[in-house]
Amino acid sequence: MPELPEVEALAAFLRENAVGRIVTRVDLAAVQAIKTFDPALSSLAGLELTGATRHGKFLDLDVSGLHLVVHLARAGWLHWRQNLPTAPPKPGKGPLALRVHLEPREGELPEGFDLTEQGTRKGLAVYVVRSPAEVPGIARLGPDALELDAETLGALLAGRHTQLKGTLTDQTVLSGIGNAYSDEILHAARLSPFKMADKVTDDELLRLHTAMRETLTGALDRQLGQRAATLKGEKRAGLQVHARTGLPCPVCGDTVREVSFADTSLQYCPTCQTGGKPLADRRMSKLLR
Ligand SMILES: [Zn+2]
Repeated sequence: MPELPEVEALAAFLRENAVGRIVTRVDLAAVQAIKTFDPALSSLAGLELTGATRHGKFLDLDVSGLHLVVHLARAGWLHWRQNLPTAPPKPGKGPLALRVHLEPREGELPEGFDLTEQGTRKGLAVYVVRSPAEVPGIARLGPDALELDAETLGALLAGRHTQLKGTLTDQTVLSGIGNAYSDEILHAARLSPFKMADKVTDDELLRLHTAMRETLTGALDRQLGQRAATLKGEKRAGLQVHARTGLPCPVCGDTVREVSFADTSLQYCPTCQTGGKPLADRRMSKLLR
């Protein structure tokens, strides 16, 4: 799932390549992706794209005061396209959800971008609103993970009797972090994903804050360098534990382990994070019995 670094890099790409240009047409290929009906998607045509920003994991395109807001969900991505086909796409076929055509630069081929979503579980969501705050998921967002100082993070965690993994990924507590970077941040901070937020000591809080900042800015720098929107899909490099079950931890060499839940999983290093003890995994112990 695209998280803060990926969405920020996509916004940066669009600021460089799309802002200042006129939207000539928007094609909807996946009818279930659009969550609003007024203003109509077609009302964007003829207007200038004036800004591209991010709220948590939401991408916000300012189209002369109207906002095209996108949540890429689990398997969504934005692809910059050159030489876009002019024929409207066939609805409901393939990964294409939405296509935005931009006015071509003089003497150049038509350009624009596609929003796509792989897989059968469709969660990509598009909103056309007059203000981003009209999107319920944006209205509920906690402070941005990259803008938090250690003191504010401490205040957010205090009194919250929930596990760190779930707390960091709860967008209403703080926004921008999902499954991948929460694994990475907790590993860098040498904290158990199951540690309770209200039990974090001052020393651990500083480690967590430093890890959050360094993990997110490091990933953002890599994404900016890769020019995110020209990639085939979301590509992450430099991961230490996330999606690396069974591989050696790059820090200590211990085997990265996994805890599975109904529709997700987390990865961690026992030596770095849990005093060498494997965390209980109900699914795994059931399989072993
Ligand atoms: Zn380790």
